[in-house]
Amino acid sequence: MVRIENYIGGELVKPASGSYLDNFEPATGKVYSEIADSDDRDVNLAVEAAKAAFPSWSKTPPEERFELLNNLAGLIERDLEALAEAESVDNGKPVSLARSLDIPRSVANFKFYATGAMHTWNESHETVGKAINYTLRQPLGVVGCISPWNLPLYLFTWKIAPALAAGCTVVAKPSEVTPMTAYLLSKLCIEAGLPVGVLNIVHGTGPKVGSAIVAHRDIKAISFTGGTKTGEDIARTAAPMFKKLSLELGGKNPNIIFADCDYEEMLATTIRSSFSNQGEICLCGSRIFIERPMYEQFKGDFISRVRALKVGDPMDADTDVGAIVSKQHFEKIMSYIDLAREEGGTILTGGNSVAMDGRCADGWFIEPTVIDGLPFDCRTNQEEIFGPVVTLTPFDTEEEVLGYANSVRYGLSSTIWTENLSRAHRVAAAIESGIVWINCWLFRDLRTPFGGVKDSGLGREGGFEALKFFTEEKNVCVKI
Ligand code: NDP
Repeated sequence: MVRIENYIGGELVKPASGSYLDNFEPATGKVYSEIADSDDRDVNLAVEAAKAAFPSWSKTPPEERFELLNNLAGLIERDLEALAEAESVDNGKPVSLARSLDIPRSVANFKFYATGAMHTWNESHETVGKAINYTLRQPLGVVGCISPWNLPLYLFTWKIAPALAAGCTVVAKPSEVTPMTAYLLSKLCIEAGLPVGVLNIVHGTGPKVGSAIVAHRDIKAISFTGGTKTGEDIARTAAPMFKKLSLELGGKNPNIIFADCDYEEMLATTIRSSFSNQGEICLCGSRIFIERPMYEQFKGDFISRVRALKVGDPMDADTDVGAIVSKQHFEKIMSYIDLAREEGGTILTGGNSVAMDGRCADGWFIEPTVIDGLPFDCRTNQEEIFGPVVTLTPFDTEEEVLGYANSVRYGLSSTIWTENLSRAHRVAAAIESGIVWINCWLFRDLRTPFGGVKDSGLGREGGFEALKFFTEEKNVCVKI
């Protein structure tokens, strides 16, 4: 059985505790590998390695950082198929999705920030006749990157790549639920010749490893993606040390459909935005609001398309909906379906776990579930479920639907479907979310800022925002 070891000081090393945690394959419900059960001793070693590497890495010319990161991207690309299979086994997502989304995006993250390293600049301001002020943007030092289980390598590299490109050294922790591709990445870092200690990966649980990273005084910033509750805990620990924080947290995203939309495109995209990755994407539109004249038509067509989705073995090429990432998360989603029933909702389709045959007989599968008849302010419509569950709600006016959309504590993303240009811009401006898609979903231009408002987080990732996050500005004033 594969043992997932830490990557510290350029080597694969055992955890100080000598103990390992079980790693499950969601599609089979069986343990298939073991994860280093690390603790603060391993984090301390990783921080020492990262501190030792910082003086040299921060002074490495951007062209050399580019070469190394770009080579790493090339190695991920070379191993795309093996990494996609590993991601699918570890997470339960269809291998077709890992092949088309997760791993290509991990390649893109490294390529994007490899080139980004060569396109940074420092500003200067002339105080006329008196002084020249220039701003030196310097890498922060050792930084911590903590990522979740839903898009494992994709989100892990989305943090690591800009940190390294900016000249920081990194102590990173992937989710203990999906550590495999981060482990495979550590082997690729060794192959790529990444200098010792520049990137360190410590495996283990959030309470032991994640919190030790956040609490470590020598870690200058934390880039975190995960749940809002964990984000609160991190902020509480980090704030008194004045650490820089980037928090990408939960969502409960509205998908607003006006009757004048391009119906076929909206329908096809809404299937994806509801159920891609088993609904376990922070950007999925879990609350669907439909303008009343179109409600019954949409309901009928949507349900019949949802029923046609194939729930199956993630390894099968024709599977649309794979396994839920863990037993614990499976139970959480099922409890929300029970809650929806208690709150008076009607399960229009789905609502049950799926008993599979063969190798997946003990896996964790849930039918794509569509619910209507719930008030906008009930718990099912306010709390993040993060699974293949959506609700339908009719509306009559723009004002009404904006009230529904903005009623939640979250504000990550939203989708608007309309052919009315003025309305599209008006609603986009009024909606409380950091990201708005008009007549599309999940398009990401890596140059654009990404992040949420309200309880969906703090700060922006992507583009130069992430490079700036990992640097500190120093103003130098020169008398002339
Ligand atoms: P968690 O918050 O449970 O975990 C995220 C990461 O934090 C994991 O690596 C976890 O470790 C670690 N962690 C847990 N507790 C602590 C702690 N006290 N201190 C430091 N680190 C800790 O989130 P999930 O993994 O369950 O991911 C799902 C959540 O992520 C959803 O809410 C989703 O909306 C959100 N998300 C947000 C995105 C965004 O861009 N805004 C994108 C993707 C997901 P371990 O798993 O080992 O316990």
